[in-house]
Amino acid sequence: TPINPALAVRDQFPAIPRDWHYLDSAATAQKPQAVIDAIANAYGRDYATVHRGVYERSASMTQSFEAARAAAATLIGGREEEVVFTRGATEAINLVAQRYRNGNRSRVLLSALEHHSNIVPWQLAGYELDVVPLTSDGRIDLDAAEQMASEEHALVSFAHVSNVLGSILDTARAAQIAHNVGATLMLDGCQAAPRLPVDIAAIDCDFYAFSAHKVYGPTGIGALWAKAEILNAMPPWQGGGAMIDRVTFEKTTYLPAPARFEAGTPHIVGAVGFHAAIDWVRAIGLDALHAHESALVAECRAALRSVAGVTLFGPEESAGIVSFALDGVHPHDIGTILDDAGVAVRAGHHCAQPLMDLLGVPATARASFAAHSDASDIEALVQGLHKVKRIFG
Ligand code: PMP
Repeated sequence: TPINPALAVRDQFPAIPRDWHYLDSAATAQKPQAVIDAIANAYGRDYATVHRGVYERSASMTQSFEAARAAAATLIGGREEEVVFTRGATEAINLVAQRYRNGNRSRVLLSALEHHSNIVPWQLAGYELDVVPLTSDGRIDLDAAEQMASEEHALVSFAHVSNVLGSILDTARAAQIAHNVGATLMLDGCQAAPRLPVDIAAIDCDFYAFSAHKVYGPTGIGALWAKAEILNAMPPWQGGGAMIDRVTFEKTTYLPAPARFEAGTPHIVGAVGFHAAIDWVRAIGLDALHAHESALVAECRAALRSVAGVTLFGPEESAGIVSFALDGVHPHDIGTILDDAGVAVRAGHHCAQPLMDLLGVPATARASFAAHSDASDIEALVQGLHKVKRIFG
C-alpha cells in the first residue's frame, strides 16, 4: 500500500518543523493547531468552572465539558454515561484495581508485554498475577491464555496494542476467553485509541482505558469506559466535591457514575482539548489513520532490514510502532546520535521492563508513527542509523 498522501496534515503541527522527524508519538502525540486553538479559547474567551455556576458562562462550559465526554464515548463506540474522566490511562487502571471487585477472586491474568501501568496497579491492590506468554513474533499467545484462564481470575487485562511491539490483540477472542471463566475483560487502549477503529460493543469488553495525550489531545486527562452496571456497582474511590448526593457528618450518599468517580474540579480545559482532538482524529478517520500507519510500518521495517546489524522486534503487522536494536550499540547512543540528525526516537525500556527481560535486552530503540508521519521520516531514520554505524565503526 502506498503511504496515503491524502493525510498531508504535517503543516497543522506547529511543533514539527519540516527538518525535524518526530518518531515518538507512542510516548505522546504532537498537537494539531485545532487542538491548541481549542485549549487557548477554553482558557481565554470561554473559561469558567463546570457543574456549579448558575451564570451563563458556567452553564455553557458545563455543556462543553459534557460534550467532550460524549465525544470520548463516541470514539470507542460507547455511551457517555459510561465514560469517567481520569488523569489518563494510568489513573483509569488504578481506579479499576482499587475499586472493582469480582466476588472474592484474587488473581489477574495479564501478559508479558504489558506496560507498567497495567502491572503495578494490580500488585498495589493485592492481586496475584498470572502472565500469559507471547508468540514468537511478539503477540499475546491467546492459546496459552485460554489454557491459563480460570475461575480464580477476577479480570483479564491486556494491552489492545503493545506500546513496544505494536502487536494488535484479537480482542473478541480475548473477551471470549475472559467471559468463559466469568472474568472481566479490561483493555489498555492507550496505543489503540489513536491508531485503530475501536468498537467496544463489538469487542464485548468490560473496561477500556485510554489517554487524551496519545490521541493528539492534552496531557492530564483520559478516559475509563465501563459498562454502566459495572460502574454503578463500584464504590467511589476519591471523595470530595462534585461526587456526592448529600453530605452530613453522619452519612454521605453519592451520585451515580460517572460523577461519583470525579471528585473535585475536573480538568475542564483538558476535556475541551480532548474533544477537539477527537473531532480532528475522526475527521481523518481511524481506518485511514490505521492504513496510513500500517503502510509506514511496512516501509520502515523493510528499510531497517536493509541496514546491516539491525534486529527488528514484534510482528510484521504492527500498529504504527517499530522497536529495533543495532548490534554493539546501546539504544541510548542510537537515540542521542539520531537526535543530532534531527530524528526523535524513544530509547529505553518503554515502561515495560518485564518485556525487556523476555526479549533479553536492557532497552530498545523505538520509532512510532502518527498522522503527520511520512516517508521523509523513515529516510531520515535510516540515514541517521548509517551515521550511528559510522561513529561506532
Ligand atoms: N499503557 C500503554 C500501552 C501505554 O503506552 C501508556 C503510555 N506510555 C500507558 C499505558 C500509560 O498512559 P499514561 O501515562 O498516559 O497514563
